[in-house]
Amino acid sequence: MKRIYLDHAATTPVHPEVLNEMLPFFTERFGNPSTIYFFGREAKEGIEIAREKFAKAINADVSETVFTSGGTESDNNAIIGAVRASGRKTAHIITSKIEHHAVLETCHFLEKEGCKVTYLPVDRDGLVDPVEVKKALNKETVIVSIMFANNEIGSVQPVREIGAVCRENGVIFHTDAVQALGSLPIDVEAQNLDLLSVSAHKLYGPKGVGALYIRKGVKCSKLMHGGEQERRRRAGTENTAGIIGFGKAVELAVAALPAESKRLSALRDGMIAKLMKKIPEIKLNGHAVKRLPGNINIAVKYIEGESMLLNLDMDGICASTGSACTSGSLEPSHVLSAIGIPPELAHGSIRFSLGKSSTKEDMDFVVEKFSEIVDRLRKLSPLYKGNGCKIK
Ligand SMILES: *Cc1c(COP(=O)(O)O)cnc(C)c1O
Repeated sequence: MKRIYLDHAATTPVHPEVLNEMLPFFTERFGNPSTIYFFGREAKEGIEIAREKFAKAINADVSETVFTSGGTESDNNAIIGAVRASGRKTAHIITSKIEHHAVLETCHFLEKEGCKVTYLPVDRDGLVDPVEVKKALNKETVIVSIMFANNEIGSVQPVREIGAVCRENGVIFHTDAVQALGSLPIDVEAQNLDLLSVSAHKLYGPKGVGALYIRKGVKCSKLMHGGEQERRRRAGTENTAGIIGFGKAVELAVAALPAESKRLSALRDGMIAKLMKKIPEIKLNGHAVKRLPGNINIAVKYIEGESMLLNLDMDGICASTGSACTSGSLEPSHVLSAIGIPPELAHGSIRFSLGKSSTKEDMDFVVEKFSEIVDRLRKLSPLYKGNGCKIK
């Protein structure tokens, strides 16, 4: 069966050119980058080329980048590192209610250690108001962590404005840009970013590698202790092949960005329009325009997301309900709750995240199949008013 993959926000396949660049570093170029003979220098050189590519992509200096094991480690390192470096036992952190668990759980952990955390609300579109950030600041505030773009509903935050508020008040601004890198332009200077987390596997790179940008002069302690790798900011022998793959993936994604984001936005908007026209009583979750190019998140009344997923899977279509981490749990998504979606509608929400392999033909096929599925499931749903059962 032909499979249509629409879960690019969860992960992406490794680009063939990325794999090609990586392969020699598993075999003939296997050296430990910390050694000084030929094999070591060769591996080290590969890493430094990847670093240049990443730094260039976000308008940073190479000395401001640290390779990590991925988005989760970068988020942990940014927030825990900034708090530790501040030397304050009762540091105050500002974040939002719709962050990825890598940020939220890190904040919960720090709360247990004595920190205070403000979880800012978002509006109905999933946007954080920079004025609210300013109001939440106090003397103890060390760091503000607001994601660049949301993984579930795709909403793109006003990071430049939030960064400006932080800068005016001498507070560190961290952004989780895992969903943004390769999909939206990133410029750490123009956007006032101090710390930024990214991950390779969301942009056609390998899993288990990512990076943390640390602005020159920003104090951020390390999490890993040991050797002197990464300018003593992250101990442990480098994931050489992974880092090289990440560098190539960033280079390819940034080069393709203008055209690809235009193409995906058009596919996305076309698909949303068709779904709205074909299926009654559905709602788009997230902002109509300030949205990741590949993100569609739809609330479907009267039916369950899980049943939609299983039915789509039978037609070879891979989608998601909310974030990969919460699927399988009965709790409604914290993101959908935060934008005011009631639990029953949150449970009936589904995310299609488009990517490089997505075509117009496939999208039309998905719209066709999806409307059939919704129709069929609604006919079976005791909640659906068309079935003669009166609810409310
Ligand atoms: C996927 C994701 C992460 C986690 O990145 P990993 O590399 O999988 O650890 C963090 N934040 C966001 C927004 C993500 O989408």
